[in-house]
Amino acid sequence: MVADTNIVNGMIVTSKSKFEGDIVINNGKIVSVGTDISLPESQRTINASGKIVMPGIVDPHVHIDEQPESRAGTYHAETRAAALGGVTTFIDFAFQGGNRAMSDPDAGLVDGIQNKIDNETNAYVDYSLHGVLHREEPETCEEIPLAIDKGVTSFKMFLSNYQIGVSNGFILLALKRLAEEDAVALLHAEDPSICDSLTEELKRQGKSEPEDYPDSRPPLTEAAAVDDILRMVRETGVKYYGVHTTCREAAEVINKYQQDISHVRAETCTHYTAADRSLHETMSNLPKIAPPLRSEDDVEAMFEHLEKGTLSVVSTDHSVYHKEYKEVENWWDSPFGANSIQTSLPVFHEEAVQKRDYSYSFLVDVMCTTPANTFGMPNKGTLDPGTDADIVIFDANQSYTIDATENESNSEYSIYDGRTVRGAVEKTFLRGNLVADKGDIVIDNPPGRFIDRNLPSWTQ
Ligand SMILES: [Zn+2]
Repeated sequence: MVADTNIVNGMIVTSKSKFEGDIVINNGKIVSVGTDISLPESQRTINASGKIVMPGIVDPHVHIDEQPESRAGTYHAETRAAALGGVTTFIDFAFQGGNRAMSDPDAGLVDGIQNKIDNETNAYVDYSLHGVLHREEPETCEEIPLAIDKGVTSFKMFLSNYQIGVSNGFILLALKRLAEEDAVALLHAEDPSICDSLTEELKRQGKSEPEDYPDSRPPLTEAAAVDDILRMVRETGVKYYGVHTTCREAAEVINKYQQDISHVRAETCTHYTAADRSLHETMSNLPKIAPPLRSEDDVEAMFEHLEKGTLSVVSTDHSVYHKEYKEVENWWDSPFGANSIQTSLPVFHEEAVQKRDYSYSFLVDVMCTTPANTFGMPNKGTLDPGTDADIVIFDANQSYTIDATENESNSEYSIYDGRTVRGAVEKTFLRGNLVADKGDIVIDNPPGRFIDRNLPSWTQ
């Protein structure tokens, strides 16, 4: 056999091991991996000596919304940013009615899913979808099995004061149905009425500086909402995945329920491990996200709970906005969200491996393997023979300074702008295709595909 690619002499990292060795790729799959394996002839040989060779990042929390106008992400731009950041698979969101603007009352969740599947031709990396359940009507639950047939096996609801927020009553009914279907429930957890009253109070007090924003959604709002939801999760038996955990108080609530029930998992996001609320002093509203950036102690709590397993995934919550919408006078007029898909791996590597001495296997576990397992993608997040050759070559010896002008995303800013990190993505392969090389996209036709997911088993 003549293989497509041999990657040789790299420091190979999986969630369980780290060793110097080689990987053989053919027809988009990993054929073999190991130390002293017999290498076939190959069309291309890449010497990865001195570099980390790891699975591509699986980012289960990404927003690429076309609506409303301020949300600027397109599949073309954001999937290119993903490839440059070593992200080979992400999970975006599909909305009832076609898109987040809910413009078509006659359209349902399956239309929203199809709307996103149609972006496949513009995708430079693979992607899947979570369904969002935001219409509080009985018909919503009837859409769940239809979505599962389309390969969408996880469903998000927002316990939040957003336009798409839903009530605890609706959440309970939906969780029951999701449990019957064996699907995964994702919840945004911030108590809506507390967020509303604190926001109004800050407005009355004229506290309009960006530094004041986190006080409108303190840890209490998150911990209280997580507790409400987890009571319903325990009652219904549904598989629960808590999105964007930010603080010690909420992580402790999750940990408490995990003592009794095994179907509770949760993530944090890169920014909650890499920045605290003081970032607003220098970056104004750009880091305005929800839940907000927290204290230095909460940053350390994210690492403590990742280590304990309370939190098992690090995602980005990549959200795309033009700078003009973020840079407004009062924080309450600025939208929530920040882009980071291009920088998440180097930033988390700097915070976890370089600064805090966590292992590379820990990084691969929380950024690749566990997100893939959690969401039913057995071909992703691993270097096992027979799986997709989604591989990142990462140069931990190369320092670079993050520069927002190099953003491939449609967002023109980065909350990490000016930050120097030790480690850079050198090459990104998607199913054996070299997509990104040394900061450039090097493939002409977008090779990404929509990934039809299985209902995940959470036994591992
Ligand atoms: Zn999000």
